[in-house]
Amino acid sequence: MDIKTALATARAFLQEKEIETPRLDAEVLLAHVLRCSRAGLYANSHRQLNENELNRYKKLVEKRACGQPVAYLVGHKEFMGLDFTVSPAVLIPRPDTELLVETAVSLLKKSGAAEPLAVDVGTGSGAIAVSLAHFIPELHVLAVDVSEDALAAARQNARLHGVENRIKFLHGNLLEPVMEQYPGLKADIICANLPYVPSGDIPQLAREVKNEPITALDGGPDGLDFYRQLVPQAEKTIKPGGSLLIEIGPGQGKPALELFNNWSEAELYHDLGGRERLVAAQL
Ligand code: GLN
Repeated sequence: MDIKTALATARAFLQEKEIETPRLDAEVLLAHVLRCSRAGLYANSHRQLNENELNRYKKLVEKRACGQPVAYLVGHKEFMGLDFTVSPAVLIPRPDTELLVETAVSLLKKSGAAEPLAVDVGTGSGAIAVSLAHFIPELHVLAVDVSEDALAAARQNARLHGVENRIKFLHGNLLEPVMEQYPGLKADIICANLPYVPSGDIPQLAREVKNEPITALDGGPDGLDFYRQLVPQAEKTIKPGGSLLIEIGPGQGKPALELFNNWSEAELYHDLGGRERLVAAQL
């Protein structure tokens, strides 16, 4: 079978299984098997696949048809223009979260601190911590997660992008390991993309999302349980004038802003799709 026929067959199969982007997914998976770009597939559309390539492709397409996310099947995902290794132990970085990173970078640049310190709570793949360290060369970061597997993934991504000497990885719940291991420490900025999906919405999540760690998604009855715990901890670990940035979902803007009644300022940001996505607060 040649590349062209394999792509057409996979695309028709994925379409039949109601995968949203059948053509794109068929291409990305085949490019992964053949270790080439998607454009490379079209440049060599008559090349024959050998048995091994065809078998590997079939297995991936079948897994995709069952709802496994493309990022887990190929083992990586682009975020902030950087390539991140991902596995089912971590939430796949979302384009929506680029808003948080961009806002954090601009706040840190404005603060003018010589050696600023950021904390990334619930770092997962390390997408936020690693991008911040990449875009701000003088930044030091503490990255926290309750999952050892996530910390291993985040460490690997830090090494991949050459920022491992500026990120310390801490195991534990929210800011507790920071307060225990660095008593009195005050951060310039704390970023958190914690689980914020209301428990009742979990059954309606897309098939793909259900393949991701539920512990990275379920935020309790209104989705804000983790942020309710985080905000008072952040009050003790942020410099006066420092910022806390939390990613939220649609409809959570008002209740999330109310968590910051003691703070000097809190602002709600919307993502490119016009949905409530971020609250940035200053102590
Ligand atoms: N934005 C994610 C989703 O809707 C949720 C991420 C989170 O809970 N932090 O799938």
